[in-house]
Amino acid sequence: MAENPRELRSAARSAVDLHTHSTASDGELDPAALVAQAALAGVRMLALTDHDSVAGVDTAQQAAHALGLRLIPGIELSVTWERRTLHVVGLGIDPTAAALVEGLKLLQAQRQIRARAIAAKVERLGVADAYGRAEALAAGGQITRSHFARVLIDAGICRDAKRAFRRYLAAGKPAYVATEWPDLDRTLGWIKAAGGLAVLAHPRRYTIGTAARGRLLSQFRALGGDGIEVCCGTSDAAEIQTSAREAREYGLAGSVASDFHGRWQSWNRLGGVAALPEGIASIAERLDARLDA
Ligand code: AMP
Ligand code: MN
Ligand code: MN
Ligand code: MN
Repeated sequence: MAENPRELRSAARSAVDLHTHSTASDGELDPAALVAQAALAGVRMLALTDHDSVAGVDTAQQAAHALGLRLIPGIELSVTWERRTLHVVGLGIDPTAAALVEGLKLLQAQRQIRARAIAAKVERLGVADAYGRAEALAAGGQITRSHFARVLIDAGICRDAKRAFRRYLAAGKPAYVATEWPDLDRTLGWIKAAGGLAVLAHPRRYTIGTAARGRLLSQFRALGGDGIEVCCGTSDAAEIQTSAREAREYGLAGSVASDFHGRWQSWNRLGGVAALPEGIASIAERLDARLDA
């Protein structure tokens, strides 16, 4: 049986994967193992885009060099826009750029504070030392809600991550902590200061009305946004079409992005994303052009 029924529908797979996670945030594989697995999956251009951290980039770069794969240094930044949390991916960034480094310090401090607050709520559900458990699972990487999902699963409170989010960790649920992340303007500023391309992550995952979506895409473009993820790990053909139409309408290029995390989010297969439809400007080609220049 196919791992993912969508495989049966779209045959053309991309050799590009511009959104993946390692142990520097909530991925299962360390950066070198991630790169090795990507190479085995036939990926030729891979971006490491951990949540609010570039800690894995150097190791990934070295591993990629040894395997003849092109590693794009990246980041997935948490953003608050009109009281919603959005994710913006920065690609081809200089991870040492001062403005970006300062921005990441801020985001990481916010993650720390939020993790303490989430832990207090998880402890009220009957889990002792929830912070210590999440911190141990993160093993030096950024602490995310995915880690708290695992804490809840290990404590026998939830059966899987999907239920942990639905019942406890999603917005408005008992262990949710609202955070005011940096706005779109600052976020794009950090990506641009680091020489990167800014891509709106998983655009179909936001619950957002038509008017607000239009405002988001035009603001994103006006602030220097470069693209949106047209082909995601979870996209079906209809979603790809919708995102491709939005990309054309708002003058944005398209990215191909599994959002691979490991077995924890098994529907996102590394390197298993559909190729970009014809007629859409390609973020991967823009990255290629910069590297060849
Ligand atoms: P955070 O950035 O700490 O709020 O964590 C967000 C991460 O949680 C996302 O990047 C996903 O990896 C994970 N996540 C969010 N919603 C779900 C869900 N419904 N099921 C499983 N994982 C999820
Ligand atoms: Mn994640
Ligand atoms: Mn995301
Ligand atoms: Mn992601």
